[in-house]
Amino acid sequence: MDTTSMEKLLAPGWVEAAGHRRWWLAAVVVVLLLAAAGLVYATGGTRYAYLHLMYVPIILAAVVFGVRGGILAGLVAGLLVGPFMPIHVESGLQQSLVNWLSRMAAFVGIGAFAGWLAGRLLREVRRLRWAMTHDMDTGLANRRALSQDLRPLLVSEADGQGVYLMVLRLENLTEILNTLGYPVGNSLLRNVAQRLRDSLPQVTRVYHVSGNRLAALIPVEGDTSHPGVLAEQVLRAMRTSFPAGGLNVHAAVSVGMAHLHDAEGDPDALIRRADIALYSGQHRGMRYALYDIHTDRTSRANLALMGELLGAIRDNHLQLHYQPKLNLRTGEIDGVEALVRWRHPSRGMVPPGDFIGNVENTDLISPLSRWVVEEAIAQQARWQAAGFCLDMAVNVSVKNLHNEWLLGVIDETLKAHGLAPDTLQLEVTESAIMEDADTVIDCLRGVRSRGMGLSIDDFGTGYSSLSYLHEIPADTVKIDRSFVSRMLENRRIGRIVESTIALSHYLNMQVVAEGVESQAELDALAAHGCDTAQGFFVARPMEARALEQWLQAAAWPRPANLARVQQVWTPRVES
Ligand code: C2E
Ligand code: CA
Ligand code: CA
Repeated sequence: MDTTSMEKLLAPGWVEAAGHRRWWLAAVVVVLLLAAAGLVYATGGTRYAYLHLMYVPIILAAVVFGVRGGILAGLVAGLLVGPFMPIHVESGLQQSLVNWLSRMAAFVGIGAFAGWLAGRLLREVRRLRWAMTHDMDTGLANRRALSQDLRPLLVSEADGQGVYLMVLRLENLTEILNTLGYPVGNSLLRNVAQRLRDSLPQVTRVYHVSGNRLAALIPVEGDTSHPGVLAEQVLRAMRTSFPAGGLNVHAAVSVGMAHLHDAEGDPDALIRRADIALYSGQHRGMRYALYDIHTDRTSRANLALMGELLGAIRDNHLQLHYQPKLNLRTGEIDGVEALVRWRHPSRGMVPPGDFIGNVENTDLISPLSRWVVEEAIAQQARWQAAGFCLDMAVNVSVKNLHNEWLLGVIDETLKAHGLAPDTLQLEVTESAIMEDADTVIDCLRGVRSRGMGLSIDDFGTGYSSLSYLHEIPADTVKIDRSFVSRMLENRRIGRIVESTIALSHYLNMQVVAEGVESQAELDALAAHGCDTAQGFFVARPMEARALEQWLQAAAWPRPANLARVQQVWTPRVES
């Protein structure tokens, strides 16, 4: 039986009649008793089978009013068809005392038994109903109860009523369970729930939504209570430790909140969103976060986009644009970076920023990266055949490099087009490398051992430590746009750019400056010895055909003075 039909079966029904409905049912029992007795009389007395109709009101009374109701109805029924009711009306033959008394005893017995049975069944139904809406271990209301409580609120939310859902996660519950056992952990959860209730008087019920997560609905009046203030109130209350298993235990909690209007009519969606807020807060090192639909990568629109990606690859809706790279030593364009675009039939041009992040979290990154490298290499081969000698840079996710699969695809594609691996550059972001530096650095060695180039992308935003910078087997550093764009107005940032160029050269790496948007930046970068410039000032990313025309026109800007090699360290001898 599925849970919804179970719910219907266990829904409060007439069996648990209350208030005026009980009086109404009592009246029905009395009427039925009199009617059945009247029928017995009218059909000729107790000799005939209509006597058994008396069981109907007796059992009804027992079911509605329990054992006492059953006994009372049995007594009344026994009397009604007892001393005053003849065996045979026509002949006036009367019943003996033993006869009607023993029948009355049977009625009373059946009434009492039916009442007891109904009571037991009712208790069982109540227990099941409770179990469906409560967590068995903590006794707190569960996620289903929360959904049930949310449903009417979502309907009335149109009135402008403000309600927040708070999800509170007990971060160190696993540790507490492992050390002190389940009963202690469960009682701790109950205590945390109680303290949550105490800290926010407007909370009436705390739900145990799963493992280490509790939830509460917080009604607020108008805009007076900022969710951050409510969260802070709860976090403050949790600071005092909890007695658990003979110790004073600290409860490490974090909180995520979502407003009722984020639910879009779906209670489960609201719970998920408060959860998403919690995780996103944790990601940013915060113990509290409020759900924000604009930063939610799990929003329906994004999910839909993910569902369409494979179709887009198949139907040729993806496209590569190429942004030229200007060599600051020669003043020539000697390479391009391939940047993916999605020509979506209904949304128009979707920039990579709108989907790459999500794609990287799924296995869709493999087909996407495969398409990108195959397309980029094929284009590079076409250009070479047409006399354009351009190095090609493609962006890949670190996840693609955890195994050799993508590198194998690249090897084969390069071979199929007769291109040397050193004309291809893979760009991997610094932050992705630093997330799991030790493992990733091993994978990156595979790139270099094949003879391909490797760039550390968005350099300066991923917090490489100096020791890792030395370990990363890259041959190029791409200074992030955020530094380049401020290098002229902020002296300190200018110094950072300058010293990053010098440091990279010390480490035998080439330097590309991203996001160059002015002649002044171009000149400053060339003066600091930067090797390559890329940015809107040189050219925006463009389609292959447009790039060819642009290259033929040869009208790109050049620095006032070409960069000169600033040899500041003897090159490292590769072993
Ligand atoms: P990225 O690798 O840092 O690429 C450079 C981004 O900066 C591009 O944005 C480019 O259009 C933009 N840009 C270049 N010059 C300038 C400038 O002077 N000013 C400004 N304001 N922006 C400039 P785009 O194409 O939107 O790509 C965004 C990011 O998406 C890329 O950042 C890259 O991380 C990712 N991406 C793009 N294509 C792919 C791909 O094929 N695979 C993977 N895994 N990621 C990709
Ligand atoms: Ca890049
Ligand atoms: Ca970049």
